[in-house]
Amino acid sequence: MAFHATILTLYPEMFPGPLGVSLAGRALERGDAVIETRQIRDFGRGKHRAVDDTPAGGGAGMVLRADVLADAIDASSPAGDTRPRLLMSPRGRPLTQGFVRDLAAGEGALIVCGRFEGIDERIIEGRGLVEVSIGDYVLSGGEIAAMVLLDAVIRLLPGVMGNDLSGIHESFETPLLEHPHYTRPAEWEGRVIPPVLSSGDHGAVERWRRAEAERITRERRPDLIERDPE
Ligand code: SAH
Repeated sequence: MAFHATILTLYPEMFPGPLGVSLAGRALERGDAVIETRQIRDFGRGKHRAVDDTPAGGGAGMVLRADVLADAIDASSPAGDTRPRLLMSPRGRPLTQGFVRDLAAGEGALIVCGRFEGIDERIIEGRGLVEVSIGDYVLSGGEIAAMVLLDAVIRLLPGVMGNDLSGIHESFETPLLEHPHYTRPAEWEGRVIPPVLSSGDHGAVERWRRAEAERITRERRPDLIERDPE
């Protein structure tokens, strides 16, 4: 069964966007994944289909209304829809490869993209939304964050990556960052490929890659080793 994503957004024209090309694009073409968008404004209130209002308590910006979002969510999840409901949010749980893998093993996801100052807090509990962040910075909307999440999920779907083994050694599939890669030419601007890689000794190559992965992880992200000691 295809992975079915339903995106609630004020900018449906942003999708599939970059997901329409290359690996993800081919997965969408084959029907391994489906990205459906729903325009939140279709559920807006009044003649002008208002979706937002001023923040209670005052302050700058506008807040997406809980009632409007609830209508959009309810119209997008038929009875028996067990897909997780995600809200892209800088306050959310950090997006990790483990979470991506869990999503890819499931049926899909309903993803709410915020805009403006954010959304009325009550909708999070009211509709069981899980907040997910793609990093410690603030975007202008949840759409690009949703694309990041979907790109990571789609490449893990069965049959999407040409060589299924290529997923295994990558950064974050193990707690280590990936080892360096090289390809032809053997010498470029005076820089040579590490000789062990041309030795034909597969055991030595494996040991070198492992050592390099450990060195790079220790240098750049010691927190990954501490978080998940082997
Ligand atoms: N006022 C909010 C930021 C709102 S940004 C705050 O300070 O926390 C508008 C929308 O962009 C958010 O509702 C969310 O959907 C999305 N967004 C912004 N940064 C994000 C991030 N790091 N990860 C995921 N979504 C993000």
